[in-house]
Amino acid sequence: MKFSVITLFPEMVEVPLSASMVGRAREKGIVQLELLSLRDFCEGKHRVADDAPFGGGGGMVLKAEPIVKAVKMAKMGQPDAKVIFLGPQGRTLDHTMVMGLLKESGFILICGHYEGVDQRALDSVVDEEISIGDYVLSGGEYAACVFVDALTRQLPGVLGDEDSAKHDSFYDGLLDFPHYTRPAEGAEGKVPEVLMSGNHEEVAKWRRQQALLATLKKRPDLIEKAELSNEEKAYIQQQRGQL
Ligand code: SAH
Repeated sequence: MKFSVITLFPEMVEVPLSASMVGRAREKGIVQLELLSLRDFCEGKHRVADDAPFGGGGGMVLKAEPIVKAVKMAKMGQPDAKVIFLGPQGRTLDHTMVMGLLKESGFILICGHYEGVDQRALDSVVDEEISIGDYVLSGGEYAACVFVDALTRQLPGVLGDEDSAKHDSFYDGLLDFPHYTRPAEGAEGKVPEVLMSGNHEEVAKWRRQQALLATLKKRPDLIEKAELSNEEKAYIQQQRGQL
């Protein structure tokens, strides 16, 4: 999967996406990251990428032309890529969207900055606007990193254990179960006995119950939508009574 990121601040994307899982996925060739510096598509001696807004008011606006040119350039490398503008007015990214987007071969991600982007650029080149939540960031670069990371960790070969993403929160409509590591006993307390029993069936059962409990406590809205067995529904009913 290829991600072409168009930004005025390439280092804001390059640095975080060089470490850890995404960094390794890039090394393994599972994902490619291409950074297009908006400055390279700007004209004039000073290569100015932004200007004051028509109609007055504060904050600078990224010019349309350099963005459109950068998208054209990125499209030459991946003609089928989906062009996404990361912005607070878009559809909010969630697990279901992430999984749906995995069918794409690649993305061209446009990062706004300052007050935003000249609307004409967005109207002419963007396929979809995606937000990472109902708050305003100072730049789309943070959102681009979130987008690349969330998709990359779902690709085969990225996580050490193929199955681990399947237990992650939201994968099956529930939150994740709690995790413990060595030491088994310390100042912070003891690890639940069952995890050291070596009984895989019991461990799996306990984990599922803990996932149900965590979801019930922290995100009761998800429980309503999750696919549960009758036994699990009864368990939830019983736990509800105790909360
Ligand atoms: N004036 C704009 C916000 C500009 S913030 C508005 O109120 O709609 C500067 C840039 O940060 C945006 O152009 C966008 O690319 C990015 N950004 C801000 N919040 C974001 C969010 N929640 N999700 C994704 N990108 C965001």
